[in-house]
Amino acid sequence: MNYYVWTIGCQMNVADSRRLESALERLGHTPVDRAENADIIVLNTCVVRQSAENKIYGRLGSLKPLKQERPETVIGLMGCFVGRGDADHLLRRFPWVDVLMPPSNPGPLLRYLTERGLVEEDRAMETAQVLRRYRLQDGEASQALVLPARERETLVSAYVSVVLGCSHACSYCIIPHRRGPERSRPMDEILDEARALAAQGVREITLLGQIVDRYGLDLPNHPSLPNLLRRLHQIEGLQRIRFLTSHPNWMTDELLDAVAELPKVCEHIEVPVQAGDDEVLRRMKRGYTVDDYRRLVERIRRRIAGVSIATDIIVGFPGETAEQFQHTHDLLAELRLDKAHIARYSPRPQTLASRHYQDDVPPEEKERRRKALDELQAEIVGQINTRLLDETVEVLVEGQKKDRWWGRSRTDKLVYFEDDADWRGRLARVRITWAGPWSLIGEIESDPS
Ligand code: SAH
Repeated sequence: MNYYVWTIGCQMNVADSRRLESALERLGHTPVDRAENADIIVLNTCVVRQSAENKIYGRLGSLKPLKQERPETVIGLMGCFVGRGDADHLLRRFPWVDVLMPPSNPGPLLRYLTERGLVEEDRAMETAQVLRRYRLQDGEASQALVLPARERETLVSAYVSVVLGCSHACSYCIIPHRRGPERSRPMDEILDEARALAAQGVREITLLGQIVDRYGLDLPNHPSLPNLLRRLHQIEGLQRIRFLTSHPNWMTDELLDAVAELPKVCEHIEVPVQAGDDEVLRRMKRGYTVDDYRRLVERIRRRIAGVSIATDIIVGFPGETAEQFQHTHDLLAELRLDKAHIARYSPRPQTLASRHYQDDVPPEEKERRRKALDELQAEIVGQINTRLLDETVEVLVEGQKKDRWWGRSRTDKLVYFEDDADWRGRLARVRITWAGPWSLIGEIESDPS
């Protein structure tokens, strides 16, 4: 049978979809490019903001006539729209959906397909094995992940989830309610997955967790993220390692030193500040002050030469005054970070902020604030990137768009260059000839590999 997986949202969803696709192919199914041509359709969903949730309604709506026309089509709904609790109300609301899957767990679909006899006969027995093998149920041991067909021999950079769920409960955030409490994956399992990916041609892995620096705190013997980085570093074939997302309170010196010391670990830290005002931070329940964050940025820069830092910011949090917003604007101007992802506050069900605070910043004002920060940041990054002109950066080439190769620098800048050789999966030394805020263009300097 043909399958189609539609994915929106965070990097963890990308990793979850890959695992699902790998399992479906193991059971004999074949990928297709369009939902219309598929016998099995899965929507892997995000609800972090209302805008993401709205996309799900759009997609679900378009599947209804398709199901009416071809009732045998299997439709699965996965991810944070489903969550980990009882979500049967979704089946009543969208009766054309057949099966629900919590985030990171495609098990229910695989079992459903087997029960309905939709797995090739000689493979049906494999469902249980596949569930175990790819750790499709929380807590079961895994082995290697086989890349799905569309990525086989082409994927250069892969996400690997290392901490599932989150127990921090920032007041605006729905993730802990949908992905469940924090659980670290055992180190051996992660190492197996990374080795398997490297053996299949992957050259860079990005370790994922809502607070990735808390890796291991819930495991026996308490391995830490620096321990994990050191073990991953020994894997032959892997050339780069990244991790995200960090929380300011959990970034130890040991971690920063591991980044500085280990050549494969890239000098790039994603550590969201969310707001530049102490009162707003307190109501967000972030657990640090603006000054703490300022000192953290200094510490990161002191310990890791040439580091780039990315942040996330929410504008228009309930009660955020013009003055409080100005504090965020000032902080961004002062810190001059390499990237800032700006989001307009969106009240989310179950969260503390949606229950206790009025969403009182009007949409036009949220948009004004978002735009102001975006413009400021574009100017800052434009200046930072201009300094790279004539410099040579190391680029891990991920693919080709039109006639240009593209990849990212160690500091996570997007770089394009033209060359006749096949560069996919290789490290290139590229001299920068043009710099804009969102990308760089350069020329091959030499071939180090
Ligand atoms: N655990 C990670 C990722 C959280 S989701 C972290 O700490 O950053 C990614 C980003 O979405 C967050 O950093 C935040 O900036 C934004 N976000 C989360 N909830 C939001 C909400 N209710 N409204 C608007 N943006 C939100």
